[in-house]
Amino acid sequence: MVHELENNHQDLLHWVDTLANEIERDAIQNDREGDFVKKQVIFLQKKGLTKLTTPVEFGGSGASLATMMLAIERLAGTDASTALVIGWHLGLIYAIRETGAWPEEDFYELCTQTVSGAALINACATEPATGSTSRGGVPNTTALPTQGGYVMNGEKNWATGSPSLSHILITAFLPDENMIGEFLVREGMPGLRHMHAWDSMSLRGYGSDTLVFEDFKLPASALMDKYPIKGVGKRNGAGGGWLLHIPAMHLGIAMAARNYTIDYASQYQPDSLQAPISTLATVRQHIGRLEAMLIPARHYLYEVAVRYDRLPLERRENLSHEIQLAKHLVTNTAIKAVDQAMRIAGGHSLLRHAPLERYYRDVRAGVYNPSMDDITLQELADHALKERLARRPKQE
Ligand SMILES: Cc1cc2nc3c(=O)[nH]c(=O)nc-3n(C[C@H](O)[C@H](O)[C@H](O)COP(=O)(O)OP(=O)(O)OC[C@H]3O[C@@H](n4cnc5c(N)ncnc54)[C@H](O)[C@@H]3O)c2cc1C
Repeated sequence: MVHELENNHQDLLHWVDTLANEIERDAIQNDREGDFVKKQVIFLQKKGLTKLTTPVEFGGSGASLATMMLAIERLAGTDASTALVIGWHLGLIYAIRETGAWPEEDFYELCTQTVSGAALINACATEPATGSTSRGGVPNTTALPTQGGYVMNGEKNWATGSPSLSHILITAFLPDENMIGEFLVREGMPGLRHMHAWDSMSLRGYGSDTLVFEDFKLPASALMDKYPIKGVGKRNGAGGGWLLHIPAMHLGIAMAARNYTIDYASQYQPDSLQAPISTLATVRQHIGRLEAMLIPARHYLYEVAVRYDRLPLERRENLSHEIQLAKHLVTNTAIKAVDQAMRIAGGHSLLRHAPLERYYRDVRAGVYNPSMDDITLQELADHALKERLARRPKQE
């Protein structure tokens, strides 16, 4: 499935590879300094990558989920921080497009700004007090109705890409209705405050400010959706397939580690050998193990994505447990694969001038994004038990 997909998108992938190569030098610099990948985001906006999932009728490329993931995977091979920022943006536009979650005029505005290279969107749900809101925690951020709109108070952390976001989706508790609301905050609205609070081991360029809202005023039209506590918003319906940009990104890091290591093993020849280390049986076993991890994980990821793309919207929810499994399998496999690659390359892999130590740090971030591993395992168990129960003969 994945090879067919790659064959069908050769031109796109060649283009993304070219873009990825152009940003690699800046990525290394950002990683060293812990600086946001601003230059890369502007470059990719100008080149048009940010409009990949924008509907064709609004001037974009209308890419499928699987196509978007291929692009993110390739980008992550040189710059995982940028791939994460762009992945949230492309994934959200894909999700809003597919679910029709937004009023047409707001979506049109986001899309036209994306096409002109001016827009970047992300959703900021996480808060210092709630941890991952995917566990159903009620946001401490509140939005109270006032004349003509709402007033918001609270703060959001882990806001990936925040230094460059033009559109920010913020979840807040609506105490009067005992519901959760999702608001569209536009950068430049008076009172929005960023706090530079990130200094991370992984993805050091991903730009995760803390956003502070103090008596922050929003028009009524900024409320894009509302849903019950522990419920799911419209854009996250249909099984949340758009979140597969996260495993695609982490797979991209692992594939880059694999490629680097195989090339290194084919060239590195210490004095004790007559040929490169790739000729050694031990090294070949390690390479074999690396392939045995990555090939099935990669196939499963894209198989799920293609099946998701082919299903009508109302049946996509049925794939929810497989989407979660794909994320679980790929992010955990990617961590093991980078470790395996480092065993092949030896002590060289620890050195700053080799990319493996960056891959090792970056790849670890995947398990801390939704769906969380324990929730996935729970869902898989629920699904299996329900499936067996449905097959049990009915008792008289
Ligand atoms: C690189 C990166 C980028 C991110 N970007 C964004 C973003 O753009 N927008 C955004 O909103 N968020 C973002 N996040 C935040 C992310 O989605 C999580 O909310 C955040 O990582 C906290 O989740 P956690 O499981 O690590 O921690 P916590 O939720 O604080 O949990 C800590 C530990 O306690 C356990 N735990 C906590 N609560 C429960 C519970 N109720 N039941 C069982 N176990 C529990 C967890 O398993 C975990 O072991 C990002 C995170 C990372 C790492």
